[in-house]
Amino acid sequence: MKEATTQKVSMKKTIEEVLKTGECQVHHPITGDVVFILNPFMLNQQDAWHNLEALKDIHILKQVIYIDLEQETNPKRLKELSLDLQELEFHLQDLWGFSRDARYHRFWEYPKCTCPKLDNEDRYATGFVIVNSDCPLHGREPAFVEHNFDVTIGSGTDQENL
Ligand SMILES: [Zn+2]
Repeated sequence: MKEATTQKVSMKKTIEEVLKTGECQVHHPITGDVVFILNPFMLNQQDAWHNLEALKDIHILKQVIYIDLEQETNPKRLKELSLDLQELEFHLQDLWGFSRDARYHRFWEYPKCTCPKLDNEDRYATGFVIVNSDCPLHGREPAFVEHNFDVTIGSGTDQENL
């Protein structure tokens, strides 16, 4: 367990500092590759540097769930993992100091998701999402749909192949 710090000190960093230390990098839990870089401009803007380690921990947890998703075949378990990811996205929004808002979750980037990526990217943050009814993560998943305002359920065509 890490020592909890109760003191919240406001701090801003220059991009040069951040690039030098690599402190915003999130590493894959197994390969050690850099899989994500937290946005230093946003960390300044949101005054969220005090949550840097917690933010990185959540991103690493996401990677762990990604690995589980790749290996999982049980349909029920796949949906549970997808809801775990949704919970992590909300937790990230808390740590960033944003309100919890499913419109900003890029759920189509998850492994095994077959929801149309380009269509959802185009509609990012609008509150309109398109879900493939056959998606092993999001198709016919009431708990997922409940958090998204206007969901169009697609027919099962993989739009990536268009
Ligand atoms: Zn999906």
